[in-house]
Amino acid sequence: MIFFVILIFYYRYNPEGSAWFPKCWFHASTGWECPACGVQRALHALLHGDVRAAIGYNAFLLLAIPYLLLLLYTTASRSDTSARLRRYVQHRYTVRIYLVLIVVWWIVRNWLQ
Ligand SMILES: [Zn+2]
Repeated sequence: MIFFVILIFYYRYNPEGSAWFPKCWFHASTGWECPACGVQRALHALLHGDVRAAIGYNAFLLLAIPYLLLLLYTTASRSDTSARLRRYVQHRYTVRIYLVLIVVWWIVRNWLQ
């Protein structure tokens, strides 16, 4: 339920330039972008169908969303399909690869600025 409330909230309200949305403390204190910088704006853009803008705000989100949805599904559901998927989605190597990709994304996005 809270998941859909969050989606409705980000669909309805644009984080761009709004003081109501949380700001990134890492970016504010270092000037560098963290792996999640731009996620709120990217989510708002995606919910409005603007994939190009979402990529501009945070390209990693497009990779993260399918994985996080699978992670949520395999954690919350008790179906046979979920159990079969859980072995791969929550496998320690899959999680490690995902974490390595986050770090690579973090380095690359700051390197390209
Ligand atoms: Zn950040």
